[in-house]
Amino acid sequence: MQFTSTRGGDTATFSEAVIKGLAGDGGLFVPETMPDISTYSAHWRRLPYTELAYSFFSLFAGDIPDSELRYCVENAYNAFPNPETPATLIEMDDNLHVLELFHGPTLAFKDFALQLLGQLYGRHIRNTGHSINILGATSGDTGSAAIYGMLKQPGAHSFILYPEGRIAELQERQIACTGSDFVHPFAVYGSFDDAQSIVKQIFGDIKFSSAYSLTAVNSINIARILAQCVYYLDTALKLDASNNNPLEFIVPAGNFGNVLAGWMLNRMGIRGLRFCVATNVNAVVSNFFRTGEYCPGKVIPSYAPSMDIQQASNFERWLWWHFNGDSIRVRNVMTTLRRDNKFVLNEIPENNDIIRTTSCDDDGIKTQIERIWCEKGYIVDPHTACAFSAVRKNIRSVVVATAHPAKFPETIASVTGQYPKHPSLDTLKHRIIIKQTMPANVEAVKTAIAEILNEV
Ligand SMILES: *Cc1c(COP(=O)(O)O)cnc(C)c1O
Repeated sequence: MQFTSTRGGDTATFSEAVIKGLAGDGGLFVPETMPDISTYSAHWRRLPYTELAYSFFSLFAGDIPDSELRYCVENAYNAFPNPETPATLIEMDDNLHVLELFHGPTLAFKDFALQLLGQLYGRHIRNTGHSINILGATSGDTGSAAIYGMLKQPGAHSFILYPEGRIAELQERQIACTGSDFVHPFAVYGSFDDAQSIVKQIFGDIKFSSAYSLTAVNSINIARILAQCVYYLDTALKLDASNNNPLEFIVPAGNFGNVLAGWMLNRMGIRGLRFCVATNVNAVVSNFFRTGEYCPGKVIPSYAPSMDIQQASNFERWLWWHFNGDSIRVRNVMTTLRRDNKFVLNEIPENNDIIRTTSCDDDGIKTQIERIWCEKGYIVDPHTACAFSAVRKNIRSVVVATAHPAKFPETIASVTGQYPKHPSLDTLKHRIIIKQTMPANVEAVKTAIAEILNEV
């Protein structure tokens, strides 16, 4: 399978796309054609998670020998305490399930993609004999998930940018208390969007990024999106979704990578899947699907910090499919967006019930946490709470639970009186935080990277 840039100026095999991250023309890689996987459904329904993930990936990663692909997938999901069911489906009532994606090493759904990405990078390092270094921006959870995915890969340094003071304390500790000399937390004075924009600019400087063997871990990497497709597929098969028996996934959204992954299954022939894009007050993407206007502004801090994002990178992929692969139209939109910081799509993008939207402010988040605790005795984290706010009675729904509540104990305790705990987080509380703070400025970040890598 070939991958092509959303902007039409680059193509790559799967492994090339994984290592490049961003396409050479600044676009994002997408599969050139989508496989029809509906014919496999009957067989795939019976597979354990790892087998399903392997079978799914083998359709895209034809340039990786089977045995190596299998090794990567197995190692990725063996890092979960429950490798048989890393994605745990909980029945709340007849019409409502919760898909818990927070049982991985860093207690957020991002482990599903980043454990696998770490394995794919590890394979590259083994096969080429050259190490790589990862560079990423995080709104809270990507950073630690990326670090834990890379820790076992020999010689690879991780540079993780995050907005100083804007992520939860335990999220920061997961990034800054690893004790590893290969992990470099950079706390920048700015927002997540500033951090993400610095990372994009550094990758735009090909000379710099190749001199230091930098590679991206943000959800611009296509392997991350594909890894996320698997738990939607697993759930759709288990709950037998079809046109006559539809299923709606309600997905907490920020960079739009998680919803997009589920939505892509529609394009692969899986029937009966609908999606609700659940944002916090940073409602740029959900406003777009309602009005056709995409208008990113300033990030508003919220109780769900991993979704405090206004520039949703993966949106460009959705556009490419929406425009039926017309990369000229994608390029025009991206140019307009850069120039005007907004664009308007004349037709309302999804008027066919496949995507609906919701947004939830901080009061709403607290209300949901309290309500679910009182009604069901179940504790949800603030991100998942945004999704719960959108549950409807008249359709079978799956709330996608993206983070473990123990990552956000204060918000939860303030409404339920319960302090959710997790042993892996408790040990972090006694370690010292080691980080570098710096201005939100490309040159400052480049200088810091160069200093570290020139020393080793
Ligand atoms: C990253 C994250 C999200 C947002 O996911 P996107 O793929 O960026 O839309 C939601 N919830 C949690 C807990 C996250 O870490």
